[in-house]
Amino acid sequence: MHRLLPGATIGILGNGQLGRMLCLAAAQLGYRTHVFGPEADSPAEQVAGVSTVAAYTDESALAAFSAAVDVVTFEFENVPAQAAAFLAAHTKVRPSWRALEVCQDRVKEKQFFASIGAATPPWQPINSLADLKTALTKVKPPAVLKTSRLGYDGKGQAKILNASDADAAWNTITGGKAHTTNGGAYAVLEGFVDFRCEVSVIAAREQDGKIVCFEPSENVHANHMLATSTVPARIDATTAAAAMDIATRAVTALDLVGLLAVEMFVTSDSTLLCNEMAPRPHNSGHWTQDACGTDQFEQLIRAVAGLPLVDPARHADVVMKNLVGADVNNLDGYLADPAAHIHLYGKTEARPGRKMGHVNILRPKSS
Ligand code: AMP
Repeated sequence: MHRLLPGATIGILGNGQLGRMLCLAAAQLGYRTHVFGPEADSPAEQVAGVSTVAAYTDESALAAFSAAVDVVTFEFENVPAQAAAFLAAHTKVRPSWRALEVCQDRVKEKQFFASIGAATPPWQPINSLADLKTALTKVKPPAVLKTSRLGYDGKGQAKILNASDADAAWNTITGGKAHTTNGGAYAVLEGFVDFRCEVSVIAAREQDGKIVCFEPSENVHANHMLATSTVPARIDATTAAAAMDIATRAVTALDLVGLLAVEMFVTSDSTLLCNEMAPRPHNSGHWTQDACGTDQFEQLIRAVAGLPLVDPARHADVVMKNLVGADVNNLDGYLADPAAHIHLYGKTEARPGRKMGHVNILRPKSS
């Protein structure tokens, strides 16, 4: 295992709140950080040692960045292919492009889940309105149409309750404009799952292949965005073990060094259906910061720096609540509660729907 010594510099592509919390974890282990992203005065820039504000396609900025760091990791997966290829040619990159590439595209992701024997909701690739109409005879409504790439927090999605909604749904996701397929499928049609709950598992994998999973969190979404993550999740031990096994098989098959978050639906008969995955720290893993001995950010820094992963050792029950928009103006109750651990991202403008921070509320450990 190639171990970085304290004082080495970890480069982080992306400069949002995940990058900010990664910088803090890196600093705790004695590493310097250098963040790279397009926005000035970003959440990560405020705490990073060095910041480059440049477009991901700016090769001279990428060259200077790769020369200044000892390893590069990512706080998001939608890195342009040419930026990832450029960095890989000039420095060590963890995780590798293969993991990012699979997670950038819902079709590749679903094919990947099938390849590791993990179930997904029924789905069909869609490249045209005609495709969609045919697919609706196989994946019966209710269903959801999603763009294959670049969708997040419910953007690029349209629900289909009846086959007659097809035209409107297609218009919603294409915006009525011509679309590109990038050689794959532009969209996927997915059966709408009547789930009992949603869970996610975050797995960390080190250079020598050792894997450590955080236990599943139970996630509740509101307005297409994560609202709360609760641990322990209300699932039985067999289902929890099966969820952790899927995440373990996924990081192994991707040969990933770093973190992978896998989101799954749990049906009424405890079947796990994989929804999507992300090769980076995840909002549904923020609970680990205060409820575990080692959190998701430290595990990622350990993995990319060649340090050993450790058992995360959860010591409390926890509810993580996202602070969205104006929520951040009502912190007095949390500030007065010693069980509430507040994390703010340094964003000044509390626009509606903007993630401003989160709070982890701890309770004595029940199981
Ligand atoms: P996604 O962008 O795919 O993560 O979807 C965001 C959220 O929308 C999910 O976490 C679910 O709450 C809901 N959702 C997405 N796809 C489905 C589906 N096929 N069935 C039921 N709910 C879904």
